[in-house]
Amino acid sequence: MAKVYNWQLGREMDYRLEEAHPQWQFAAVFNINRCIACQTCTMACKSTWTFSRGQEFMWWNNVETKPYGGYPHHWDVKLLQLLEEANPGGQVWNGGQQSDRQPYGVYQGQTIFEAAAADGNENALGYLPTDQEWTSPNLYEDTAKGPQGAPNELHSKGTQLPEHNTWFFYLQRICNHCTYPACLAACPRNAIYKRPEDGIVLIDQERCRGYRKCVEQCPYKKSMYRPNMRVSEKCVGCYPRVEGSDPLTEGVPMESRCMATCVGKIRLQSLVRIEDGDWAEDASNPLYFLVRKEKVALPLYPQFGTEPNIYYIPPRWVPRPHLRQMFGPGVDEAIDRYTNPSRELQAVLQLFRASQKIIFRYEIEEGEKVLDTEINGRPFQMHNDTVIGFDREGNEAVRLSLQEPFHIRPEQYQNSI
Ligand code: SF4
Ligand code: SF4
Ligand code: SF4
Repeated sequence: MAKVYNWQLGREMDYRLEEAHPQWQFAAVFNINRCIACQTCTMACKSTWTFSRGQEFMWWNNVETKPYGGYPHHWDVKLLQLLEEANPGGQVWNGGQQSDRQPYGVYQGQTIFEAAAADGNENALGYLPTDQEWTSPNLYEDTAKGPQGAPNELHSKGTQLPEHNTWFFYLQRICNHCTYPACLAACPRNAIYKRPEDGIVLIDQERCRGYRKCVEQCPYKKSMYRPNMRVSEKCVGCYPRVEGSDPLTEGVPMESRCMATCVGKIRLQSLVRIEDGDWAEDASNPLYFLVRKEKVALPLYPQFGTEPNIYYIPPRWVPRPHLRQMFGPGVDEAIDRYTNPSRELQAVLQLFRASQKIIFRYEIEEGEKVLDTEINGRPFQMHNDTVIGFDREGNEAVRLSLQEPFHIRPEQYQNSI
């Protein structure tokens, strides 16, 4: 195995292939706090890409209810258990050594690649879900964890922030277009590749022979088998839209289907520039700001080691140990910053789902103060700032103020629909 640098782990790790990076990386932030589980994203993807025979159980985008839900069933619990069996008690972080190259400290446990290397012949630790586990993608929807751990048991004294005693949350999932994809490392046919222009991970359908090693070794279970074609398929990142081929955006990159349709406005997609194997410093890119500067959005199960490129603003009300296991040691800082957002963060949060064009850069025009209060005993101010998002060509794509404009319906239309 080669040695590659994984900034999410703050250290080098073993990987089957030599380190290589695209010029730009497909990435997105999902704000879990705002998702209403309407599944519009899920259906937008399904009706675009997986509506054919053999794809009946294939959901490239899915939204599951945590802690009990999962598609396929219990995918993450099973992976965590495999890691624990491979390296008992070792999955810990040293959160103390923080820098730009180690924003969450250093992971001292084993990744799925390292655990597999220690064990034998596989390139990554994994398992093949059963057919049964791929069914019922929304099993345990809205099932809460009660105070004694019993499903749907309500707390007799009620509950309040900072942590709820009875809780669940929605987890929105697509392929992470990982920097070090386990699906790619697993494939004996070398049928999986990562595009140099945008980091989107694709399966070459001509080369695939349906061995399902990618299904087995993707820790997020986002590569899926299509039995009637005898090939594996996965989220394609809506690459024609990202390439700007859709006439609607006249040649500039456009958000993927699941992002552009999000009713809850929880998703913000961009492409981040890669330099020397890491995100190039670019504080005016909204993804760079949210992930690397403000650190309000975190990777999902960074300890798996694939360096996933979908980031999450963690849910405020969920017990922290659960969130730390899921998003790593950055959870407390992320929730703190989201709960009492800086002036810049308040503006950037307006960009979520504001335009079908992918926002590459933003600017903020300062407005007057509209609120002066306290949040959790700390001063909080809100200004009517205007955020302007620009597309790849540098043209203005969207302009929004924090205070929504107030429209009064003309008197002659008062009773009309
Ligand atoms: S999430 Fe899975 S399928 Fe997607 S790139 Fe990563 S390892 Fe591959
Ligand atoms: S990016 Fe496109 S292909 Fe991937 S889950 Fe979203 S809609 Fe589906
Ligand atoms: S469309 Fe948005 S709000 Fe609705 S389920 Fe999907 S991510 Fe959540």
